Amino acid sequence: MIGSSVVLRTRPWIVLCLSGFLGLLSVGTPAAVAADCPGHPDALGTSRTLVVDPREHPRIGTMQYRETLPLKDHEVVLTFDDGPLPKYSNQILKMLDDECIKATFFIIGQQAKANPEGVRKLIAAGHTVGTHSMNHPLTFDRMPVEKYEPEINGGIEWTSAAMTDPSKQLAPFFRIPGLMRAEGVENYLISRGIQVWSADFPADDWRHVSSDRVYQLAMQRLEAKGKGILLLHDIQPRTVAALPKIIRDLKARGYRIVHVVPATADRPATPTTAVEWLLHPPTETTPIARWPSVPTFVFTQTRTMPAPSPADLNAQTEHQVLLPHRTKGQLNLASTLPTPGRDLYTIPEGSIEVLLSTTLSRRAATRLAMASEAPRAAKGKSGSIKTGKSPAARTAHAAPVAPKHAADANGTAPRNAASKSASPKTAAARPTRVASLKKRAQ
Ligand SMILES: [Zn+2]
Repeated sequence: MIGSSVVLRTRPWIVLCLSGFLGLLSVGTPAAVAADCPGHPDALGTSRTLVVDPREHPRIGTMQYRETLPLKDHEVVLTFDDGPLPKYSNQILKMLDDECIKATFFIIGQQAKANPEGVRKLIAAGHTVGTHSMNHPLTFDRMPVEKYEPEINGGIEWTSAAMTDPSKQLAPFFRIPGLMRAEGVENYLISRGIQVWSADFPADDWRHVSSDRVYQLAMQRLEAKGKGILLLHDIQPRTVAALPKIIRDLKARGYRIVHVVPATADRPATPTTAVEWLLHPPTETTPIARWPSVPTFVFTQTRTMPAPSPADLNAQTEHQVLLPHRTKGQLNLASTLPTPGRDLYTIPEGSIEVLLSTTLSRRAATRLAMASEAPRAAKGKSGSIKTGKSPAARTAHAAPVAPKHAADANGTAPRNAASKSASPKTAAARPTRVASLKKRAQ
């Protein structure tokens, strides 16, 4: 096995099996393909064969890479990993045969070693066969070259060993187990002319979900992208159960199956343009695609320009004091509030009744309020702190209210907002506060 692997490395990758080859070259409509599916007039069929050159597009699958296969809208490529496992792989193979669908299988070396007949069946049925490592370790993203190289080569050797002519039957396609990609692994594969296959969407059939869920995810994700490479596993019973429903739905929704094969000396790659390898190529409706590239400016002169100073922005200190970044603690400092202390608004028990009394004239009420205010203002801010709890609590919200903003006196405005509008100018208009108090007392 080791000796043959050395030979394999130097060989060019060529044709798959001849059985499917002639039919693959023609691109037909689904109806035409179905007619070519003996005994299955309603078969989904394979609409066309896409020949790809791994060296031109070494990484594919939008789950991880920028590029994917150049599929048209409603075209699907089916891929199956981790087999062959006779119990389930044979059932998958039968379903695909019955529908004349050609798919791509990524073989594990250990499976090929245990079941070489399974690999031969795939080849005989005309499917594309790539590899998927020797032991399926989920550590490719952190393996040193001494470990991933034998993993890759072991899978290729044992899969090749099951074939009669691996140089023609084995496709230079590799899918990293668990999609645990790593730059070194990809570069190694690419240096050998092997195409790295990710996928466009999985159906989570390796998870503990129902076959219905697998079917739903496959279709939902396909519908979301409109086309692409579907990743499935031919070793799972739920995949076996889901596949007939997937095929039925693909048919009902007008999807077409595309078979992918590698280019060879005798079989040139299908002509494509670069943008076709993008899942959603830029269109006329994508304006950014038509924007000119950013010109290269000369910045040497701008380096000497001085940075703007606050003066350039007409910034004033007093305005900065009122910026909203001040903390609540700062707002509570009495020194920042040029208005009189809070006890200014503390009305002795009974005063409100006096103020509201209809027997007292408005002028008399004002005079009374002014008289009671004078001695309190003289006490200063320290006096306000000692004010009795009960009346202070009742009037606390009124303290920072500016007369200009009479509406705030109803207590609905946030305290901070009201505080910001306080200024020495507004503090002078005291009679209005009495009016505010009247309002609150109601
Ligand atoms: Zn796998």
